[in-house]
Amino acid sequence: MDITLITSALSGIKSATDIAKIIKEADFSLEKAELKFKIADLMDKLIETKAAIFDIQELLLNKDAQIKKLEDHMSMRDKLRRHLDAYYEVNSDGSVAGPPFCTRCFEVDRTGVHLLRSAKDKNLLQCPQCNTVLSANRCPSL
Ligand SMILES: [Zn+2]
Repeated sequence: MDITLITSALSGIKSATDIAKIIKEADFSLEKAELKFKIADLMDKLIETKAAIFDIQELLLNKDAQIKKLEDHMSMRDKLRRHLDAYYEVNSDGSVAGPPFCTRCFEVDRTGVHLLRSAKDKNLLQCPQCNTVLSANRCPSL
């Protein structure tokens, strides 16, 4: 996380608190114009702080998405193993079985995408995600 965002939010809260304290302690000794200026300054600090907190929230959501993606990848990595030109699910006895997964998508994007029979050539399989084309003979359903 970018620590400057948190520092910025904390600084904004401190400034807003300081301004509110000045207004509270001044009671009626502040001139009306000065009071308006202090309140406007307070509002600016609160708006800046709100923006910093939104940035932090967005950053945390992005981090959560990255963590979920990595967890999914780790889970997928244990479930799939390469056989010939594709990846397959690993059974409890260690053998591989089922329909083939795209090699490119698994190795590059860390996702499991099943290969589909090509509409143009029945001897070819195609990935619906990345359009990789592989020989059906090298990627049989097991
Ligand atoms: Zn693919």
